[in-house]
Amino acid sequence: MTGKTIIVSNRLPVKIQEKDGGYNSSPSEGGLATGLGSIYQEGENVWIGWPGTEIAPDKEEEITAQLASLSLLPVFLSQEEISEYYEGFSNEVLWPIFHYYASTYSTYRQSNWQFYQQVNQKFADAVLNVAKPGDTIWVHDYQLLLVPALIRKQLPDVSIGFFLHIPFPSFELFHLIPWRNELLEGLLGADLIGFHTFDDVQHFTHACARLLHVNLSSNVISLPDRLIVAEAFPMGIDEQKYASLAKSETVKQEIENLNATLNGVRAILSVDRLDYSKGILQRLQAFEELLKNNPEYLEKVVLYMIVVPSRDTVPQYKHLRDEIDKRVGNINSLFRTLNWSPVQYFYRSFPIETLSALYATADVALVTPMRDGMNLVSKEYVASRINNDGVLILSEMAGSSRELIDAIIVNPNDMGMMAAAIKQALEMPAEEQESRMVKLRKNVSKFNVKHWVKIFMDRLSEVKEQQQSLH
Ligand code: UDP
Repeated sequence: MTGKTIIVSNRLPVKIQEKDGGYNSSPSEGGLATGLGSIYQEGENVWIGWPGTEIAPDKEEEITAQLASLSLLPVFLSQEEISEYYEGFSNEVLWPIFHYYASTYSTYRQSNWQFYQQVNQKFADAVLNVAKPGDTIWVHDYQLLLVPALIRKQLPDVSIGFFLHIPFPSFELFHLIPWRNELLEGLLGADLIGFHTFDDVQHFTHACARLLHVNLSSNVISLPDRLIVAEAFPMGIDEQKYASLAKSETVKQEIENLNATLNGVRAILSVDRLDYSKGILQRLQAFEELLKNNPEYLEKVVLYMIVVPSRDTVPQYKHLRDEIDKRVGNINSLFRTLNWSPVQYFYRSFPIETLSALYATADVALVTPMRDGMNLVSKEYVASRINNDGVLILSEMAGSSRELIDAIIVNPNDMGMMAAAIKQALEMPAEEQESRMVKLRKNVSKFNVKHWVKIFMDRLSEVKEQQQSLH
């Protein structure tokens, strides 16, 4: 590949903190940042995105200079842009529809859409300021669906890849969006469009055929000037990081403390961001059913439930939080004894060492989203099981269920099935745990995040070559 590589995502991989009237920026360690770390920090390469908070205009220059030293280029957003483009359109229109939550009460506000277009243009302009013919641009996720076409219009010959980190919904859901054609046209500015699963690819190509009447052959869309490929690239994690964390001295100490607290009680673990797509209430209901129908488990199992605060300015999220509080309270008040509580609920985030200790200690991981693009937690649990024990219960609605087929796969709408799966997991013989976990770990180790970046980039070069050979 000639030229430089430009990564574009809504958020920059950086934590910005206010300090002594100024700002401090340090790189953050999310999965995407780890995977792309080896790319954006090389040579002239750069990552473009929003720093994640509103920055006072007189501080923009200072922040820009600080970020430049980390190969990051900020796009600053006003409070109004954050509220309309990010909270309004991205999180209240696209997120629910793409996760199969279509409500008859949904409102599609024209002003949200206008800001979405305006901010997408702002991101595209930031790219166009630094991009040159021959560069490769990789745009990420649902907040930036229009960016590929906006770049293509100005720079027809660059390579543009796009990856969607959330599901692409079936036609019946997608066509509810008033601006569905514009969204598809935005995406078709890319040369390669990646999704987590084959179903997402099919939903996308089907929508293009139905709504834009494009010429489609399998997963290749032929436009008059260009062919575009849509393909599945299931995202992986940095599995070595989780495997070595589990062996580290700090984590070993935390594991010892946890085991001492548990004192023989079996631990079931659930870890999510606060989101209705994660199936948290249904999971609690299944756990309640398990305790009701199997009194022999009273005082013998505990559910560690971690919910990481998220989007709590959106009313549905606040409501969900209240409902979780209520249901946890009910279960604990119904079943608790003087020295045992069935649900240990935390509404907070944890340092990675504690998370790693929980992954390594829990007998069972209960990962049951109603809908999830991939779900990295399921892979992180597997990567942390260095002794090849433990059981993963995984929703068939998570993208990761297509790869982690040796988990116990459940339908998150089926409480009876989920309760039975927990029982099966708690009673699974050690040999079966091992034979499943060995296969799961092989998968997570082979298809790690570096592999994901490499196959996406290689495929993008191939598509570009294919286009050129047709001209
Ligand atoms: N996570 C975290 N802090 C915590 C709990 C979880 O940073 O206290 C991370 C977790 O390690 C995982 C991510 O949050 O990498 C959640 O990713 P996932 O794909 O499961 O769901 P998403 O939140 O992206 O929908």
